[in-house]
Amino acid sequence: MSETKLYDVAVIGSGPAGMTAALYAARAGLSVALFERMMPGGQMAETEKIENYPGFPEGVSGYDLALSMSQQAARFGVEEVAEEVERIDLSAEPRVIATPYRTVEAKAVIVATGARPRKMDLPNNAELEGHGISYCATCDGNFFRGKKVVVIGGGDTAAADAIYLSRVCEEVTIIYRRSQLRATRVYHDVLEGLANVRFEWDSVVEEAYAYDGKLSGVRIRNVQTGEQKELSCAGMFVAIGTVPNTEFLAGALPLDEGGYIVAGEGCATSVPGVFAAGDVRAKSLRQVATAVADGANAAEAAAEYVAEHR
Ligand code: NDP
Repeated sequence: MSETKLYDVAVIGSGPAGMTAALYAARAGLSVALFERMMPGGQMAETEKIENYPGFPEGVSGYDLALSMSQQAARFGVEEVAEEVERIDLSAEPRVIATPYRTVEAKAVIVATGARPRKMDLPNNAELEGHGISYCATCDGNFFRGKKVVVIGGGDTAAADAIYLSRVCEEVTIIYRRSQLRATRVYHDVLEGLANVRFEWDSVVEEAYAYDGKLSGVRIRNVQTGEQKELSCAGMFVAIGTVPNTEFLAGALPLDEGGYIVAGEGCATSVPGVFAAGDVRAKSLRQVATAVADGANAAEAAAEYVAEHR
């Protein structure tokens, strides 16, 4: 049997937080394993254009930024492991990280597993995913070229999705449970100027209709008046926030009520040598800029921990 490999730092998750943590740790002279179950970049890689990450006056594609971050980390010797971490043992010294294919050990662990889209509470939600219900406008928008779609939510993701979809779809209806978007101001003006974007304020989706196995429409209810109406649509883009990817921790770290890992700005959790960075950490602002900041802080703290435990 092959020997279990020991790293100074294991970084779990290769979104902007994980890739920055891996880069900083590798540049600090540490051996680093970076685990990622899918492609590098996390949610960032699915973002068509990021306009608020400094250094890109015209904005940058999330996919391109993810690729650049990944190449930069690799240049400094980060070992990327394209496997999903299923289990970690944080009580062991060194810590144990297990994927379906291997088990490694690490002196310090940085959890940067991010978050995934929250789903709608509709009985036929699962059947319609991939058949009209989508969580990624830039990935799936093209399937609905020239058709009517709805976007659920009122945050930045919903606003950015609606703007993107307005370019490919016949009509985009934003269905939001309040009377004014909570998205950043800059989006409001853009949306108001788009002729094929309309709003259903104070409204929630009560039912999704299917025809021939595909989404064909929704029934919505106005929460102020109780009035119900049906809208025909081929696509429903769900942008109602995120749920943290913390299930694999199985109680190994304290979480807040939303399931996010409790750790301060320095990213230290209550378990020595274990850090949380990026969207998976309990915090108020989840952006690429705050994720990379977390990554740097977590790597710095991990390097200190490793130096003290040589
Ligand atoms: P948010 O949590 O900001 O918004 C979620 C939206 O979904 C809210 O409008 C919320 O309504 C609504 N919602 C939540 N649950 C339900 C439900 N069960 N049914 C119907 N509606 C629901 O998530 P986002 O994904 O928009 O943004 C996450 C983070 O990413 C934010 O920090 C955001 O700023 C950032 N982001 C930034 C971008 C940018 O700056 N360009 C682009 C995309 C994301 P309510 O308001 O009533 O709570």
